[in-house]
Amino acid sequence: MSTLFIDGQWSAAESGRTREITCPADGSHIATVAEGGPADARRALEAARLAFDHGPWPHTPAPERAALLHRLADRLQDEIEQVARMEALDTGKRLVEAKIDMEDIIAVFRHFAGLAQAEAGRVVDPGVADVSSRVVSEPVGVCTLITPWNFPLLQTAWKVAPALAAGNTFVLKPSELTPHTSIWLVNALADLGLPPGAANLVLGAGAEVGSTLTEAPEVDLVSFTGGVVTGRTIMAAAAPTVKKIALELGGKNPNVIFADADLDAAIDNALTAIFLDSGQVCSAGSRLVVEDSVHDQVVDELVRRAGTIRMGGPLDEDAETGPLISDAHREKVEAYVAHAVEQGATLRCGGERPGGELAKGSYYPPTILDDCHQDMDAVHDESFGPVLTVETFTGADREGVEDAAVAIANDTVYGLAGAVWTQDAGRAERVARRLRHGTVWINDFHPYVPAAEWGGMKQSGIGRELGLAGLHEYQETKHIWHNTRPARADWFADRA
Ligand code: NAD
Repeated sequence: MSTLFIDGQWSAAESGRTREITCPADGSHIATVAEGGPADARRALEAARLAFDHGPWPHTPAPERAALLHRLADRLQDEIEQVARMEALDTGKRLVEAKIDMEDIIAVFRHFAGLAQAEAGRVVDPGVADVSSRVVSEPVGVCTLITPWNFPLLQTAWKVAPALAAGNTFVLKPSELTPHTSIWLVNALADLGLPPGAANLVLGAGAEVGSTLTEAPEVDLVSFTGGVVTGRTIMAAAAPTVKKIALELGGKNPNVIFADADLDAAIDNALTAIFLDSGQVCSAGSRLVVEDSVHDQVVDELVRRAGTIRMGGPLDEDAETGPLISDAHREKVEAYVAHAVEQGATLRCGGERPGGELAKGSYYPPTILDDCHQDMDAVHDESFGPVLTVETFTGADREGVEDAAVAIANDTVYGLAGAVWTQDAGRAERVARRLRHGTVWINDFHPYVPAAEWGGMKQSGIGRELGLAGLHEYQETKHIWHNTRPARADWFADRA
């Protein structure tokens, strides 16, 4: 099974091990792929190191790097149906959503192609005769890129595009559950002329391959998207050699609805916020924080509508949401809901595996847990499933109401995303500024633009992806001072 890509060659795992990839919508077999191990990870790192230290890519002129990224975007545009289908089968998500992801990915590659040429350094006037001084940007070196399973190619594009735009080489390790679009990506890059060793792919388990890729001294930067527990392990692994790290971790994102909001729009978006992709979205609006006076109106309607959401597989055109990624993940979501109920939450809808045709897949229905409060684990722990917790707030006056909402919304170790719903523009601005979350939507939920930025406060991450900051994460800054008329320093007396 030659699905590892190392130094421009496809190869099997050195151990000969393989992994079966199945579709979570019905358990059907998709493919058998190589299951790499530490020896494969080391081979890939050697290739990436060699390609960075002695290969042409880091010195390739920026317009050529940009042209390659544009050609990759063109290739994806041409093959969009086929690649979206691969992604949909691996993840179980609906084909229509996978296609939206592909459009986003094309935009990401084009965006970073533009940034590759945008910054050529700057001249600094040193104020000294015969001296020139400039600041230049250089690639960081060998990058380890580790991605999760929920938006496999999109998360990968957020890392691969800036890494290549800046002239780095990389080893990519996608989630072991969703390898196919990464295989497509490195194949396309090689085909479009990226030199051997610049892009390497190792499939395999995080604990084996991932740890080699994060500890090795050949690596200069680790960029990781995944859970906070893995993020902590990666920080520790990177510490002894002081690698640069970028972490995009979990979220427990508050969706704050004030009584003066457009409730129709707020309710509609609250459903998308949590139930899109069965809640397997890092920025999912998993905590509804609603003003007490409109609690019944909002929650009754959410419960009614959640009960009508249609689940189905990637190619089911009537489906509105898909399965969870695996049976193991569904068991974790079930345990999370059971624990919440034990701690006093009221199960308003969902909470039971569906039967019939859907019993073949890892489905879990839209679920709402009412009467939640800050002492419950459910409002602090990420379920990463289609589960909404409901908390309420109230206050004696206008200011008190806002203080109460902000206090609840910020009472989390995470800080990835959040939203505020109100028709009072002043309140919207005040609350948005006070929320300690990396992205805050006002009267909206979920949209993002590649030219903006993405990243978390607190334990949701380190660094920002996308936007200008995204390219800077993958660059080193160097100040070059050139004295064109060398002279004695005359600092220490010559006592010889
Ligand atoms: P995960 O942390 O289990 O795995 C992510 C990746 O890390 C996988 O490729 C896995 O193989 C690898 N890995 C596991 N252990 C490792 C180790 N010790 N060393 C190196 N690599 C290791 O996460 P997941 O279950 O795949 O994804 C879900 C999580 O990702 C959720 O917490 C979600 O919030 C988060 N996420 C965050 C963002 C964001 O932008 N902040 C986006 C998507 C997902």
